This record gives sequence, C-alpha cells and structure tokens, in this order.
Amino acid sequence: MDHFQLRNGILHVEDVPLPAIAEAVGTPVYVYSRATLVRHAQVFRDGLSGLSDPHIAFAVKSNPNLAVLRVLAKEGFGADVVSGGELTRALAAGMKPADIVFSGVGKTHAELVQGIEAGIGQFNIESEEEGYELSAIAQDRGVRVACALRVNPDVDARTHEKISTGKRENKFGVPLDRAASIYAALADKPGLDMRGVAVHIGSQLGDLEPLETAFGKLGALIAELRGKGQSVTHADLGGGLGVPYRKDEVFPTPAEYGAMVARVTADWSVRLSFEPGRVIAGNAGVLLTRVIRSKRSGNGPPFVIVDAAMNDLARPAMYGAWHDFDAVQPTGERMTAHIVGPICETGDTFAMDREIDAIGAGDLAVFRTAGAYGATMASSYNSRGYVAEVLVDGDRFAVVADRIMPHSIMDAERVPEWL
Ligand SMILES: *Cc1c(COP(=O)(O)O)cnc(C)c1O
Repeated sequence: MDHFQLRNGILHVEDVPLPAIAEAVGTPVYVYSRATLVRHAQVFRDGLSGLSDPHIAFAVKSNPNLAVLRVLAKEGFGADVVSGGELTRALAAGMKPADIVFSGVGKTHAELVQGIEAGIGQFNIESEEEGYELSAIAQDRGVRVACALRVNPDVDARTHEKISTGKRENKFGVPLDRAASIYAALADKPGLDMRGVAVHIGSQLGDLEPLETAFGKLGALIAELRGKGQSVTHADLGGGLGVPYRKDEVFPTPAEYGAMVARVTADWSVRLSFEPGRVIAGNAGVLLTRVIRSKRSGNGPPFVIVDAAMNDLARPAMYGAWHDFDAVQPTGERMTAHIVGPICETGDTFAMDREIDAIGAGDLAVFRTAGAYGATMASSYNSRGYVAEVLVDGDRFAVVADRIMPHSIMDAERVPEWL
C-alpha cells in the first residue's frame, strides 16, 4: 500500500492533504510518512526472516532527522553512523548504544573517543592505521571495543560512480588480498576485539548480482581467517539496495535480497548485520514545492520555476538523478516543460523536456522519492535557508525540523572590527 495517494483529486500523505501542510509550514518542505517508514522497516525485516537474529542498523546519513530516527528506533532498528554528529543524533533519538555501528573512512581521534565513551556496539575499521589508533585509545581507557574490518571486495556495483564504494580504486575498506594479514595484526592489538568483517559496495543498486559476488568474497575471507585461527562471529553486509525513482522501474525486493543472503551465508555461522538507508527512507518522503512562475524559452518547452532548488534537493545536480514530479492537484492535462529552481546555476535543473502534469504559477507539486539523501544533503547556497521537514502520522502532522532562515545563518557570521 502506498501512503502518497490522490483523494478527491488532491495528493495526500496518509490522511493529510498536502495543501494543508503548504499552508501551515510554507514551501519548499520535505514531508515524510510515518506509516511508510514503518512499513518499509517491516518489509525489510520480513525479508530477512530466513536468518537467525539479524541486526539492522539504519544508515543515518540517508535521513538523520531525529523524528525519523525515533520512528525506526521504535521498530527495533539500530543505527549505522559515519560521523560524531550522526552518533549524537542516533543516541538523542533513542537508539541503544549497543545497536550502533560506526562506519566511515576518516573517523577522527575525537570521533573514535566519542564512540568508545558512548559504548557503541561495533566499530567498522576501514584501515590498518585506524585500527592502531583505536587500539591505543581503547588501551588508554582500559576497555576492549568490538570491531569488524571493512574490506573492499573490488566489485563493480553497477551504480552511479559517485556512490560506488566497493571498487579497488574507491577509498573505502582494506584491499581484500591484504585483509587477512591486517585482521591478524589488529587481532593481536590490545583494546580491540576483532570479531568480524564488513562490506558495503555502494548505493542505489538495481541488481543483486554484484552484492552476491561481494558476499561470496566475504565468505571466502571468513573461511580463510578461520583457517588461520582467527575468530569471526559477526559479518556486516552493509546497505545499498536501490529503490524505484520512476514509476515503471523494478528493483529487487527485500524478500529477494534476503533469500539471496540466506543462500550465500548459509554456512557462515555468524551474526549478520545490515545497514539499509535508501530502501527504508527513500520512498517515505516527498519534497513539496510551489511553482513561482513559468517562463517561455524560445521555441522550446517552458521553464517551470519552482521554489525548491538544488540546495534543497541536490541529487539531480549531483548525480543527474531523476525524481518524479507530480502536481498536488492534477487536472488531467499534461504538458512538456523544463523544471528548474531559482538558483543562479544551470545545474539547478530538476528535469529537461519532461512530460508533467499541466501546472502554473502558484500551483503545488512534489518531487517524489525524496525521503533519503534529500534534506540531509541540503546547503544554504545562494543564501537560501534550510528547508523545513514535516512528519505525517495518520491525520496529524508535525514540523520535525524548523525552516532555518537566511538571517539565522548570517547570525553565525562576524565582520571583524578591523574591517
Ligand atoms: C551509505 C551507506 C549505507 C547505506 O546505503 P543505502 O544505499 O542508503 O542503503 C550503508 N553502509 C555504509 C557504510 C554506508 O556508507
């Protein structure tokens, strides 16, 4: 069931008509559906029902809003964090420290300390150097921290190059052919409880095959490590499952993914962890925007200028990504247009030559599938503020992130007295 439906010709999120949110909060605004988040969490968990006691850690970077994290904490999810800021959020949202995994290629000394002091469940170490630093910090404090070694399996995830993370030339993890010796070296270090291996090959994967290849290599590594006398009790399979951004796209389901995982890992005898982000949050949110005006462009289609821009939703400018664009009150008429934001960059283009609902100045519309890698990637470029976020639950909604106005950002700036 989809919680973004037309009712009486008006697009609703659950039981709330979007014009009511635009009226109360203004535009642009991200709108999330609690029921959709919960359903995605359940579908993902159900997909893993063939595994014993899987650990699911939501990838906080995909949507770090505290209310979104709280919804998922209530679903029993932990968190996969990649910075001290994300760790602070996960804890503030009520995630149990033991359910938090700390990933990231450049954890600072301060972040490693923060993770230890918070008592998180696992560090995913991304280099030998990081392991030594973590060992020294843990030893200093007289503690032992649970760790997995993230390996780079050199697998082409067949996704956008900027979100591919498992090729040899990517910065993530340690090379597979050195993993066993690094694991052994770190297992000998005080303060580290080397208990597993981790892999994450990229995001928005449309195909299970690269994942299966990567997991196969991880399985071989586990066998090799055990053959050399190492203990391996945990394996973290990362995230990456893609979602349809267009109505006609078909992606592997969590059930298909779970069945593949169950098959590939059948004889691993480890506790498996997962770090889904986009597949949970992506289709649980839209970016609600209002058309400022339309502008003719020579003989071509008009430019529909909306009040959302690349600073609010960066994916089209950053990755050439597609987001479906639908009128909130479609008339049934269609038109072809270029959809652009107000920012002074040609990159601030959401779509060219797109067939869309006929729409004009003052009308509301949504960019779909904006719940992941949306608000979290916002900037204040062009001295625009930060977009507000709203969570819908049935017939009620709440502002879960205030709009940050340009003057508040300016308040953090100073002109030195000598100027
Ligand atoms: C980004 C990331 C994820 C989540 O990826 P999705 O494609 O959103 O599922 C999981 N694990 C790590 C280490 C990541 O960097």
